[in-house]
Amino acid sequence: MKKSRWEEARDWFILVVWKPLREKDWKQEGRKAGKKVRSAGAPEEWKAGNKWILVMCSMLCVALVFVGVFLLLRGGEDKRGVEAADKKQQEQGKQPDEEDGKGQNQGQATDSEDGQEPSQEANTAPEVTDPRAAFAVQPGNVPSNFEAGEEKVVYLTFDDGPSRNTERVLEILDRYQAKATFFITAQWPEYKGMIKEAYDRGHTIGLHTYSHDYAAVYSSVDAYFQDLWAVGELAKEQIGYVPCFIRFPGGASNTISANYSQGIMTQLSALVQEQGFQYYDWNASSGDGGVCTTEELIQNSTSYTQNKIMLLCHDSGAKDNTVEALPTIIEHFQSLGYTFKAIDRESYVVHHGVNN
Ligand SMILES: [Zn+2]
Repeated sequence: MKKSRWEEARDWFILVVWKPLREKDWKQEGRKAGKKVRSAGAPEEWKAGNKWILVMCSMLCVALVFVGVFLLLRGGEDKRGVEAADKKQQEQGKQPDEEDGKGQNQGQATDSEDGQEPSQEANTAPEVTDPRAAFAVQPGNVPSNFEAGEEKVVYLTFDDGPSRNTERVLEILDRYQAKATFFITAQWPEYKGMIKEAYDRGHTIGLHTYSHDYAAVYSSVDAYFQDLWAVGELAKEQIGYVPCFIRFPGGASNTISANYSQGIMTQLSALVQEQGFQYYDWNASSGDGGVCTTEELIQNSTSYTQNKIMLLCHDSGAKDNTVEALPTIIEHFQSLGYTFKAIDRESYVVHHGVNN
């Protein structure tokens, strides 16, 4: 006898829903009857149905797992995309010199300076880089602008720090929106954090000497470079790269080095440039290398009138008068239309004559 559709549906329901729900009962019955539980008591037609239920459920599960994994992956990607975009926005809002990309992006920063097409930049996500990473020392790329030009600029340069006075110097520079260059040493390591602080406030970090011990530094060419790279590593630790700007202890014109090595300045002034460094002497001095009153420092510093003034100052715990004189010196030159700039690769280079 042929089943009606209704009967077929009912039988199907009994087979695939009702009987499996009653599985516990027939298993118990099976156990009571002392049969093996797995197959015990299960009606043949149910077994057949059960097999198909298992197959269908398995396929459904597999499909669900696939869909789940797909959605998870897509969700993750979207989230990552949004996070990356957020991060990029935050970074773009920041000072360009904060944290990331200082050292490792040197190459990229240089590349973009070498004139990447703007259209290319628009097509790729903009890299957040510190343009000053290009200040890193690179053999074959020595700053060499010896033309003073028309623009009136004061390059304030502070040798010997960081020191207990660096914070005060930075506050004054901020107050006048003046930028400066710090030729650093490792003489007072407890203040080395001020190297990054100065850098983050937009000043340039240059290298002076690690030990500031003339007898050791100028004992030989090797000793000089050992000391230079040591202070270079100190800079790198703080700002992410070894800068190419240096100032010789005593300047390139010093004669004190002759006490330790005859002719060493002649050798060094050429060798540093071969390695990609440029040395900056000065064409103006505050006089704070010796003992001066604040008034004398102001008088000395404000006596210069050339367009490019590379002013020698010192940053050390003993040089409180320099800090005292600084506001007046800055006000003087700003009132004459000078801007205070930090040294960069395009800055005017001052060289002394070499005397040893
Ligand atoms: Zn010095």
